[in-house]
Amino acid sequence: MNYEKIVESILNCVDCGSDKLIFKDVSRIISCNGTSDVVVLRVKAEVCLNCGQTYFSSEDSIQFTEIRRQLKSNLTENFKKAGVVYEVS
Ligand SMILES: [Zn+2]
Repeated sequence: MNYEKIVESILNCVDCGSDKLIFKDVSRIISCNGTSDVVVLRVKAEVCLNCGQTYFSSEDSIQFTEIRRQLKSNLTENFKKAGVVYEVS
């Protein structure tokens, strides 16, 4: 799916009704129940300037699901290690 199509399909924000939607690079953190590992992904998404709601392409959504599946199955060899996440209790 190309992004032009989404611009046409989302004329107004579903959440607040605003028509001020822009394309921008966003970081999406993919996590999965049962593991503390996360994957950070940079994608282009449509963001509502009024309420901040973010709309991802269906292609990206499919990729998120796939990454979540890989995290769950511990198939992380294709992911590049980007840092360590610390937790403060
Ligand atoms: Zn909105």
